Amino acid sequence: MKILYYKMRAVAVTWLLRLMPRQAPMIFKGANSSLALCEQVAVLGYQKVLIVTDNFLYTSGLLDKIISTLEENNVRFAVYDGVLPDPTFDQVQAAEKKLREENCEAIIAVGGGSVLDAAKMTAMLRTNPGDLASFTGIRPSKNAGTPLFAIPTTAGTGSEITLAAVITDPISHMKMPIGDGKLIPRYIALDAELMRTMPPSITAATGMDALTHAVESYLSKASHKASEEHAFAAIKLVFKYLLRAFDNGDDLVARDAMAQASFYGGAAFDKTSVGYVHGIAHQLGRLCGTPHGNANAMVLPEVLLAYGDCVHSKLANLAKLIGIEQTNHTEAELAQQFIQAVIDMRKQMDLPLKPQGLKESHIPDVVKEALAEAGSLYPVPRYMSKKEIADLVRPLLA
Ligand code: NAD
Repeated sequence: MKILYYKMRAVAVTWLLRLMPRQAPMIFKGANSSLALCEQVAVLGYQKVLIVTDNFLYTSGLLDKIISTLEENNVRFAVYDGVLPDPTFDQVQAAEKKLREENCEAIIAVGGGSVLDAAKMTAMLRTNPGDLASFTGIRPSKNAGTPLFAIPTTAGTGSEITLAAVITDPISHMKMPIGDGKLIPRYIALDAELMRTMPPSITAATGMDALTHAVESYLSKASHKASEEHAFAAIKLVFKYLLRAFDNGDDLVARDAMAQASFYGGAAFDKTSVGYVHGIAHQLGRLCGTPHGNANAMVLPEVLLAYGDCVHSKLANLAKLIGIEQTNHTEAELAQQFIQAVIDMRKQMDLPLKPQGLKESHIPDVVKEALAEAGSLYPVPRYMSKKEIADLVRPLLA
């Protein structure tokens, strides 16, 4: 009975994502494109903006050139730097209060997925006042948000191009997924210069997030030609450049390629949603505070293996895509080779394999919420049982 409900939800999600009206952003690319984006703010006539960021980035000096470009162009600004990883409702409310009280006409978000998501919801809350919890789910809001300029400083979430935002309810600690075409920023700068400072651990985790988006999008029942094109681009770029960016953070070619991989991964899952990797990873983030990319990396190959036969043909295509296929191998063997390539990359970057603080007593909660999240939002290639999810989670215990 529940599976039938999930299948009906998957059809509804597929069509909602296809039909949801989206604003197409203008994209600035390349070194110092973030500064060109700031000039654009002035060209468009905005006189005062709110910069949304996190305190580490703000005090590290990463935003210095952005701020001086705004000053040179006579754009006044206020700063909200209170965003923390996995932002909560209260951070969005505090940023929106500042946006309102400072009379800012637009928002410039500079940071990782946490900052971008908080800024996206700040923009929406300003023009659609109300209870943040009521935004949860996939539905269009009444009013367009405050104009948003997005400058990602990590390469993984693709949040700059997605209709999604993930905000945590500070009381239940549940990560609330929100899908609304009006969340997509109006202007984006993919500026690899700002990604050089990412330490290898964050490069690795966020890069695996981009890979997860692309793979889960391709395996989604909602996958179609346009989403596949973006998923393939992301997967090729991740396999070609992630280890390079991990080994040498100053390799701007690799950083730029990973910025694009992240963007393509986001563009892919924006149209298809994701799958059980995210369903489980969100629970690890909620219960153990595991960073999102790390949580995805902990279960990506294991979930692919657990899907079994129904994904062999697609995973075999991915083995061919990244050029690791050997002749005369069956689809099942090629699928296994792709899964092994993901495991090898995870190992080479020394990514943690277990979340800190996961307890046996958490397993029923993870299983329940992962099944509910995937069942209501993700057109997964096949539905898993409670036991299958528990079998995926149990090896993560310390
Ligand atoms: P993050 O934004 O939480 O940042 C992680 C850490 O990296 C922070 O401490 C930050 O200060 C630091 N950091 C960021 N840029 C840096 C840089 N250039 N140099 C040094 N340090 C830097 O991490 P994230 O993985 O980018 O984002 C995760 C969040 O995004 C989660 O809340 C997740 O749920 C959400 N998400 C959203 C979408 C979407 O489509 N909206 C998709 C995937 C994930």
